[in-house]
Amino acid sequence: MSSSQNYDDLLTNLLKAEEKIKAIVVSLRNGLVIASKMRDEDTHEDIIAATTSVFDIFINRVKKDFGSANEFINLMTIDQNKFLFAAAGEKAILSIVADLEASDKKLKVYGEHIANKIKSLIEYEEIDTSIPQAIHLLANARSSSFPSGNFLKKVIFLGDSQVGKSSIIKKYVENEFDNTYLPTIGMQISEKTLNMSRDCQLKFKFWEMESQQHTFSPLRARFYSDTKLAFIIFDLTRRNTFENVRKWIKIFSQNFHEHVPFILLGNKSDLPNHEVSREDIEQLQKEMKSIIFSVSAKTNENIDDAFKFAAYKIFNVI
Ligand code: GDP
Ligand code: MG
Repeated sequence: MSSSQNYDDLLTNLLKAEEKIKAIVVSLRNGLVIASKMRDEDTHEDIIAATTSVFDIFINRVKKDFGSANEFINLMTIDQNKFLFAAAGEKAILSIVADLEASDKKLKVYGEHIANKIKSLIEYEEIDTSIPQAIHLLANARSSSFPSGNFLKKVIFLGDSQVGKSSIIKKYVENEFDNTYLPTIGMQISEKTLNMSRDCQLKFKFWEMESQQHTFSPLRARFYSDTKLAFIIFDLTRRNTFENVRKWIKIFSQNFHEHVPFILLGNKSDLPNHEVSREDIEQLQKEMKSIIFSVSAKTNENIDDAFKFAAYKIFNVI
């Protein structure tokens, strides 16, 4: 599929997802427009002109305030429009123009998701231009219901050996990826803080245990205790790791008296040789009544969204 077709599909899907969006523009940092899509073709000229002038003001502010910041998302209201600007990697910026009535929350969730995909397109990576169900759920969740305060929540990682548990954590916590395999020895714990709202801060505490340890380790009870959510991971390129997901769900639920939510992640979406099809995933999703994300610890595809989804799940707003 050609890259311009990809942009077109991606922006069309965004227009479909949120009817309050009037226009979407993808531009390089110097202002050069590389893709755009309008809801109403008649307003084309107006919107482009309005976006460009706001964009210029915005980009000057970005230069002044953040230098060449490659991670920002900014929402502003000017006259009769809302403008969202989000960094799509180091090179590009996604601009969204929407009605005043559009929800900030929806614009941010969709904006962040699409900006990440544009970043991949610019780096010539393959992407799935459809917007996953989980993103629609996130966009429509009641974000106003976050409690105030600082929270520490434990999240555990389960799944067969080498599915990418450590890599996913490393990518999310340190934004780094390593192709070489370093087996997790015993238990590994790391942290990352996420701002959920102005007065709600969540510190994730991630726990990973070497797969073999699950059967005999004396540390097992400690590993499971006080868990608020689990990620259960499989490798899209190894069928047996997908078959084993049911086994992991069983092990997981045997360790709790109360209900603890889990999210399934099919990792290594960047690789070509998938042994798990979209139909297989949909089937399991129905059966488990659970969300499944296709992710890549290598390209970062859907990683941020999956963790955001986890946070919403932990606070029970999804
Ligand atoms: P764990 O045993 O589940 O913790 O798996 P690791 O995180 O140690 O990863 C196992 C191997 O898979 C390593 O060689 C990683 O570099 C590789 N890997 C992990 N995630 C990805 C991914 O998303 N894409 C690709 N191509 N390789 C990955
Ligand atoms: Mg590991």
